[in-house]
Amino acid sequence: MLKEPQSIQYLKGIGPKRAKLFKRLGINFKKDLLYYFPRRYEDRSNFLPLAKLKEGIFICAKGKIIASQNFSTFQGRSMFKTTLSDNTGKIYLVWFNQPYLKNIFKNNDTVVIYGKPEKYNGRMQIINPEYEIIEEKDCFNIKNSLNLGRIVPIYPLTKGLSQHQIRRLIKACLDEEVSSLEEFLPYHLRNRHSLINLAQALINIHFPRNNDLEIRSYRRLVFDEFFILQVLVTLQKIKFKNQIGISHKIDNNILKKFRDNLDFNLTSAQEKVINEILKDMASLHPMHRLLQGDVGSGKTVVAIFTALCAIRGGYQVAFMVPTEILARQHYQNIFDRLSSFVAREQKIKIGLITSSLKKNERDKIYQEIKEGEIDLIIGTHALLQPGLKFKNLGLVIIDEQHKFGVSQRTILTRKNQNIDVLVMTATPIPRSLAMTLYGNLDLSVMRELPPGRGVIKTIALETTKREYLYEFVRKILLKRKQVYFVYPIIEESEKLDLLAAEQMYESLRSGIFRDFKVGLVHGRLKSNESCKIMQDFRDAKIDILVSTTLIEVGLDIPNATCMVVEHAEHFGLSQLHQLRGRIGRGSDESFCILVSDSTTQEAQARINAMVKFNDGFKIAEEDLAIRGPGDFFGFRQHGLPEFKIADPLKEIELLETAKKEAINLVRFDPALKSRENIALRKILKERIKECALQAAS
Ligand code: ADP
Ligand code: MG
Repeated sequence: MLKEPQSIQYLKGIGPKRAKLFKRLGINFKKDLLYYFPRRYEDRSNFLPLAKLKEGIFICAKGKIIASQNFSTFQGRSMFKTTLSDNTGKIYLVWFNQPYLKNIFKNNDTVVIYGKPEKYNGRMQIINPEYEIIEEKDCFNIKNSLNLGRIVPIYPLTKGLSQHQIRRLIKACLDEEVSSLEEFLPYHLRNRHSLINLAQALINIHFPRNNDLEIRSYRRLVFDEFFILQVLVTLQKIKFKNQIGISHKIDNNILKKFRDNLDFNLTSAQEKVINEILKDMASLHPMHRLLQGDVGSGKTVVAIFTALCAIRGGYQVAFMVPTEILARQHYQNIFDRLSSFVAREQKIKIGLITSSLKKNERDKIYQEIKEGEIDLIIGTHALLQPGLKFKNLGLVIIDEQHKFGVSQRTILTRKNQNIDVLVMTATPIPRSLAMTLYGNLDLSVMRELPPGRGVIKTIALETTKREYLYEFVRKILLKRKQVYFVYPIIEESEKLDLLAAEQMYESLRSGIFRDFKVGLVHGRLKSNESCKIMQDFRDAKIDILVSTTLIEVGLDIPNATCMVVEHAEHFGLSQLHQLRGRIGRGSDESFCILVSDSTTQEAQARINAMVKFNDGFKIAEEDLAIRGPGDFFGFRQHGLPEFKIADPLKEIELLETAKKEAINLVRFDPALKSRENIALRKILKERIKECALQAAS
């Protein structure tokens, strides 16, 4: 029996309210907390003498409070100022609008601080430092602090949570859980590759005792992610090999009719891939095919051909996509295409399942699927729910499969035996890497875009040119074209100095673009609200759509010919390319404007690559080339949900090693029954179960 995962609500200091905040970060169970990795670290292990502080450079220091006072500033704000001193010098610490601090800092208190000194009126000061007041006797013991005097983890946060809180909770969780954590990598394997044990790795990834342990923890946890995936992939490959599946009857007649009925000619790439797929479908071997095609290459119509083929042979089809917005778009599109042409033939019934269905609606549709009345069911993760049963499922199609994990694919394909599976992605990772990552799938590639597309011009723009940008956008709007504005975050945050979708929506709508219709969508809206807005945008009732990366995948609205990406330096290259894929879908010229004062060389290189290349496969190569070594947390550019910490584009060697070991292990113990592999077997089972739980929640 597997243990039920434990909710974080059982941890001290977490009530329902805080649990909700954690949910936003994707943390539901204690285990999620252990695997919620820092974004980066700050080395606060050494205290600098106050005399040695330099302007603009973050430091950790320790001293005694010698005087404190509340002031009011010229603007009427209250200001608390205290003087910290050690035997080398003095510095002011300043806070605004927190007069109560006067009661917290007492003269002679020993205080450890972290912050960025600046010069003011000739004296050094730090505004808003992080601080901890410590007992004199703790001075020798500062290593016990989670926030100062050590290498300190910095986590991605959400409004209402502080670094101090999350550090404390993670520490508490580690203390409780680590002793019962089961090591699942066999000893000989760890030994061969000098991998530290799991407990050590988890402790030190959060609170590294030193740089060396930080790096070794990282390496171990990256290896784990690759290894688990590769074991799954290898097991599946073996299973696939001996499977007898459905040999679909290909009704060439109907396929021809469908083709003749299209308002365009298929590209030769589409023709080629459809042929590959139909061959798979007809064969007795179940299909397991990955279709890689650049954004806009026309994958949906390939999917419809495949679906049509299965349906005409008497089977049901499940079509899974990552967002509700996309599910609705596909539903509408496929409905239009099929109903207009099949009407004369035999009716094909299409259904839509999302998590926003009411219970009675869901029950009804479940019933229809179970009785085989619905032929094609389109949906989000909601399709994974255990209650959903098919009468005769024969084909699973997964769109934007890079947004799903292998486990999710497994759950859906288990809804019937040995069915055919087509997964599609636009993430153009290099072919060799795709073969390593998804070695259990056959690969089809479409490099060609349909003819007659307008060119996309990509322009890099500094933030100082904002007025020019708005002028430019206005000209496009006046031509009755539509525009996307994409921001990296939903709401403003004090910690991140970034423009946010909510605030910019208000500002654009009531300011510079008040004579146009502006809409806002992001992941935290209720789904019926965001669907309504998307529909209005599709119907051109909205001119400007302000959004986050929610719109990154799949959307197909040809009249939108301009996309503005703010803080472009915050997005990975493949993400930028996917975003840009939302425009250039019609015959008009389109514009992608990347606004950024890019700070690092790497960010600059990404933006340059976008300006220079339109081809996704070329972009994938650049992506590999640009990535600097080190900086391992940096930020995650690949966007593959399998990997919380690993970056397969960066850690190719470790990936290869994991793959070799996985193949070896499975070769000797394909059922994972030997004693040393039992823990691993448990982990794999848990993984799949977790996905089912997520789908059900
Ligand atoms: P993606 O591969 O990004 O999923 P879609 O399937 O959404 O691309 O197709 C993008 C657009 O191109 C759609 O509007 C679709 O109708 C159109 N399209 C697909 N194939 C062709 C073709 N052969 N010729 C012209 N337009 C096509
Ligand atoms: Mg698509």
